[in-house]
Amino acid sequence: MSRTPSRQDFDTYMIPTYAPQDAIIVRGKGSRVWDQDDNEYVDFAGGIAVNALGHAHPELLEALKTQADKVWHVSNVFTNEPALKLARALVDLTFADKVFLCQSGTEANEAAFKLARRYAHDRFGEDKYGIVSFRQSFHGRSFFTVSVGGQEKYSNGFGPKPAGIEHGVFNDLESARALINDKTCAVVVEPVQGEGGVRPATQAFLEGLRQLCDEHDALLIFDEVQCGMGRTGDLYAYMQYDVVPDILTSAKAIGGGFPLAAMLTTSDVAEAFQPGVHGSTYGGNPLAAAVGYAAVSCIATPEVLEGVAERSRLFREHLERLNQQYDIFSDVRGAGLLLGAELKGALKGRARDVMKAAMDQQLMMLVAGTDVLRFAPSLIIEPKDIEDGMMRLEKAIKTLL
Ligand SMILES: *Cc1c(COP(=O)(O)O)cnc(C)c1O
Repeated sequence: MSRTPSRQDFDTYMIPTYAPQDAIIVRGKGSRVWDQDDNEYVDFAGGIAVNALGHAHPELLEALKTQADKVWHVSNVFTNEPALKLARALVDLTFADKVFLCQSGTEANEAAFKLARRYAHDRFGEDKYGIVSFRQSFHGRSFFTVSVGGQEKYSNGFGPKPAGIEHGVFNDLESARALINDKTCAVVVEPVQGEGGVRPATQAFLEGLRQLCDEHDALLIFDEVQCGMGRTGDLYAYMQYDVVPDILTSAKAIGGGFPLAAMLTTSDVAEAFQPGVHGSTYGGNPLAAAVGYAAVSCIATPEVLEGVAERSRLFREHLERLNQQYDIFSDVRGAGLLLGAELKGALKGRARDVMKAAMDQQLMMLVAGTDVLRFAPSLIIEPKDIEDGMMRLEKAIKTLL
């Protein structure tokens, strides 16, 4: 039992919901990580937009260790100081008046969709339960959230789906208008679609959705699980668009690597959730909330947020240079430090091959579908790490051409 675990153990013991890379990472610092053989990697993946302050950030470590000595868990039969501090900080920093804490993006969205349905049910009656979402969107893996998500390959094959969910075309306001009516309780959208290919919403699309929601007494839900928490250079993407949702979900970066998520909303909407209507054993767990409070306090500073634009520019410059040299991208897009490069020509459909070749060159990165290379690094990644990582990406690409 005490031998060192190997990648082979994954295939032997784990249910194969994933196909992880061969290397097993054992430690990290900033935007560098090391595997079992002490090989050093540059991290452009950020744990899928989670490690927004890199690995082993001193303030997050301090918060975790300090809280670990105090109390780990008390359940929601009791409240606790870290949860209260975090909730207050999120209210101070955003449109929201009230916060619900949980562990994952899935749970934050599940809570958001249940809240929207309950709110409409209580205010407008039983028939108002329609949810309008968009193709290619991703909102989580519980059966409700995956059904609201716009990728049938994830939601088919599990029997009958929850009723009342329809999908429009992202960035096509007319397609949304055709679906939104007085039976609609909520419209949910990612201001920047992440998994669906790193696609920012247009200003007109989000403004139009806000207006349609107002006209039909529907709640506008922004899923900022991936694009929120500083990723775009503002604390939340809605601030960049100046379009305010009724409910916002936040996860991934909010815990800096500790499982944590939040649903934010207004006092009026929050009233639909009274004691007993929704809940979570771990929600607002003191360890998670203490790390989350430290993460939010670090990210919501001018130093971190203003640094995103410069790093984004560096990433884009490198990607454009690679494109000039090798003519491999049909598009480089995204916002801040959530960037996508769509492959064309010889590399079309080979995003996973590029990711694998990058691992061979000791670079961690991501894909979004079969055609898009995705980058979601630490918001405080050092320019030197960007340089190094891009040299490795170039080497990886050369091996495939
Ligand atoms: C990752 C993600 C989710 C799901 O979050 P989990 O923590 O994996 O449950 C939901 N919405 C968006 C936009 C995401 O990127």
